[in-house]
Amino acid sequence: MNADGALVLFSGGQDSATCLAWALDRFARVETVGFDYGQRHAVELDCRAAFRAALAAQFPHWAARLAEDHTLRLDALGTLSDTALTREAEIALREDGLPNTFVPGRNLIFLAFATALAYRRGLRHIVAGMCETDYSGYPDCRDDTIKAMQVALNLGMERRFVLHTPLMWRDKAATWELAEALGGRPLVDMIIEHTHSCYLGDRSHRHAWGYGCGTCPACELRQRGHEAYTTRCTAAGPAQ
Ligand code: ZN
Repeated sequence: MNADGALVLFSGGQDSATCLAWALDRFARVETVGFDYGQRHAVELDCRAAFRAALAAQFPHWAARLAEDHTLRLDALGTLSDTALTREAEIALREDGLPNTFVPGRNLIFLAFATALAYRRGLRHIVAGMCETDYSGYPDCRDDTIKAMQVALNLGMERRFVLHTPLMWRDKAATWELAEALGGRPLVDMIIEHTHSCYLGDRSHRHAWGYGCGTCPACELRQRGHEAYTTRCTAAGPAQ
C-alpha cells in the first residue's frame, strides 16, 4: 500500500465511484472532491454523500482511509457552457460527432482545480475517471491530454503530482469488472444503487443497471456496459 495521500475527482457517477474504490485499495489516505457548476444532473452530487457513507459502512478497512470530502463551486463553467447539460435543451449529437452535452475543456478545468486543492491538502496523487475507450469522444478524456496536463501542472506548481486514470483503457463492462475485483458483488450493487449517470437527473426509474431515464447517451452507455458485464459473468459461470 502507498503511504501517500490521494485526491479522487468524485462526481457521484459510476466511473468516479469505481476510481474511489481503486484509490482506497492503494493509498493510505483518500480525499474526494466534487464540482458544482450548475449541471442539470446535479442529483449526481447528491449521490456522493450516500455512496461515501455506504462504502464506509460496508468496507471498514476503507473507512479508515476515507478522509475529507470537498465540493468546489465552479459557477463560471456553467455560465460559459452553452450546452444541453446546463440548458433545458435536447441532448443530441453535433455534426462533429460530439454530443452537445460536451462542456469545452471541462476536465482540464477540473484537473487544474483538483490539483490546486491537492497542493493545499498535501496530497500527491490525483485520481480521475477519464476514459478514451468508449467515452463519447471527449478530447479532454484522451490519455495524451491527461499526460500533457500532468506535465503542465507539475511545471506550473513546482511539484511532482501523479495523475492516475485507472479507467483509461477499460470499456464500461471492464469498469464493472474492476469494481467486482475491488469489492466483490457488494461494491457492484452499491454502485448500481448509489451512483448516478443519467444526464436528465432521472432517479425515478430503476433498471438492472441503476437509476435513469434509460434513453439519454449516458444511460445507454451505462446500460450497454452493464449488459456486456453480466453477459461475461454468465459466460464465466457463477461468481465464487
Ligand atoms: Zn438518462
